[in-house]
Amino acid sequence: MNTIRQHLGWKLFLSYMLVIVVGVVSLAVFAEFISPTVFNRHMTDMEAIMGVGTAGMMGDLTQSFQRVVNETLIVAAALATVTAAIVSTIVTRRIVGPVNRMQMASRRIADGHYEERVEITGEDELADLGQSFNQMAYALDQVEVRRRQLIGDVAHELRTPLSNLKSVMEALQDGVLPAEPQTFLNVERELNRLQRLVLDLEELSRAEAGQIPLQLESVNPVTFVNATVDRLRLQYDDKGVKLRPEAATVIPDVLADQARMTQVMLNLLGNALQYTPAGGEVVVSVSADKQSVFISVQDTGIGLSADTLPHIFERFYRVDTSRSRVGGGSGIGLTISQHLVEAHGGTLAADSAGLGQGSTFVVTLPKAQ
Ligand code: ADP
Repeated sequence: MNTIRQHLGWKLFLSYMLVIVVGVVSLAVFAEFISPTVFNRHMTDMEAIMGVGTAGMMGDLTQSFQRVVNETLIVAAALATVTAAIVSTIVTRRIVGPVNRMQMASRRIADGHYEERVEITGEDELADLGQSFNQMAYALDQVEVRRRQLIGDVAHELRTPLSNLKSVMEALQDGVLPAEPQTFLNVERELNRLQRLVLDLEELSRAEAGQIPLQLESVNPVTFVNATVDRLRLQYDDKGVKLRPEAATVIPDVLADQARMTQVMLNLLGNALQYTPAGGEVVVSVSADKQSVFISVQDTGIGLSADTLPHIFERFYRVDTSRSRVGGGSGIGLTISQHLVEAHGGTLAADSAGLGQGSTFVVTLPKAQ
């Protein structure tokens, strides 16, 4: 019983056998009980036509007919059984083969071999299943690649501030560095960078998992754009970069979490300030069409080359690693901003005519209904 339960081939064979048994039994029952009556009626009709004296011959004929039917049934049942065995073996092989291959592949994937794929033959449902299996394996492979990359990136990001701190501590112990306020300020700066990195990482992991709760309300985008401009005005003045907000007369409301959108604007305006030299200008403009509201941050800064542009939303991506390190950037800001804007049902895009030509970042948000 267990063998039958565990093997598709046996189940298929038995289902064929069931059909054969039902066919044979119904034919036998028909031949035994119904066909003699029908046959006799025909015989009686024939006797009437052929005349008296043929009755004995007709009785023999009935018996011969039944024998022939019985023998034919036995041969047909034997042939059908052999055919059922052959067909079920062939069909089973065709079904079980791919299923077995998928089973083996899934075991290898479970063991960490994410590059495993199954070969797809034919166009039937099994081929569809194989295709879905390969898609799932590809998705798992990508998750694994990203996981490994993230661990590598985080380790890389932690290495520099940690080794800086270690050297300062060793120098202090050896008496090479004096234990004076400036030394402790340097230590504190490195610790602050570490702390900010950890906070950014937490935020990134929540954003990537779509777990940042949004408190959506109908709000005019000019409100959070102006709030950000006010917060950064002093820093712009200090560096000598002009900050010019521009807005069309009537801007429709959007459905947004003000705090989160302010965070996005701080990142965009902060970057524009960081990558625009003194004397430059940053224009923040808000406009709208029938469906969407556009917030654009356009700077006259260092710009982005065509080959770096597609990567800037990737986590930890920085065009100039040394420059950003000094500035404190970890290359996570734009990744988080993009997730936040997308969580609002919008998009964040970047454009630049090239190095030295400035950059433009555009947030597109759907209009509130
Ligand atoms: P970071 O904290 O390093 O600024 P971001 O994710 O905010 O991280 O930005 C990623 C990278 O994109 C930056 O390191 C910089 O190379 C580039 N970038 C971002 N904004 C601008 C800009 N306005 N002009 C030129 N490059 C920019």
